[in-house]
Amino acid sequence: MLYLVEHFYSIQGEGRYTGVPSLFFRFGGCNMKCEGFGCEELSPDGVKVLGCDTAYAVNKEHFSKNWIPINSAKELLLVLKQYDLPRHVDIVLTGGEPLIYANDPVFVEFLEALHASGHKITFETNASLHVDFEKYPVYKECIFALSVKLSNSDEPLNKRVRGDVIYSIASNAKEAFFKFSIDAESITLGLEEEIESIIVHSPKTLVYCMPLGGSKEEVEANTEPLIEFCKVKGYNFSDRLHIRIWDQNKGV
Ligand code: SF4
Repeated sequence: MLYLVEHFYSIQGEGRYTGVPSLFFRFGGCNMKCEGFGCEELSPDGVKVLGCDTAYAVNKEHFSKNWIPINSAKELLLVLKQYDLPRHVDIVLTGGEPLIYANDPVFVEFLEALHASGHKITFETNASLHVDFEKYPVYKECIFALSVKLSNSDEPLNKRVRGDVIYSIASNAKEAFFKFSIDAESITLGLEEEIESIIVHSPKTLVYCMPLGGSKEEVEANTEPLIEFCKVKGYNFSDRLHIRIWDQNKGV
């Protein structure tokens, strides 16, 4: 069973394809919690949940009442049909962690149908879950934004950094790039070495750094220190346009 949390048509707000009109499918569930990001979300049952800026798409226990159960690829394709979109519009699969469904037949069928119709498919993933490129060749046609979690997520190292998975995705996918969420404080606390210990698993893959934060205020506070860090290291700075424009509003 797959869970779809929300879908919306917007522009890509971060990473290599910032500004590109894209239809987003946000899937429910994640293999991490990332409580270190410190975002709080009030659940429908009145519980304050700590996590990342999409805790409402991560925490099944308190939020799944609002998630849409999906039993067939057709249901997902009907979502696409209900929009009046430009042909071949980009599709972004995000979450939560969309790759928790990587081996689900319904999910794979959905990807194959999107690819057959000429859509560019991008995964927003924490790059910690194995993808079987041989069994499901459609993944070789996809783009992967590898948002590997840093220690500021408070997730254990062996869970958040899987060198074998990073290498496999970067080597087999149509395209991949790293995308890190960074706060001003981490820049002073040995972040440099941490990033290098991750990108060593695929040294030729482009690196994008974006300001951490679930609100416009937090993103803005982290922006300038991060730009200075990118200038020193030669990494690409990526804004988080959707948060800067729409702040904490969801589905935009
Ligand atoms: S891996 Fe991503 S979606 Fe999952 S809890 Fe961490 S930041 Fe949120």
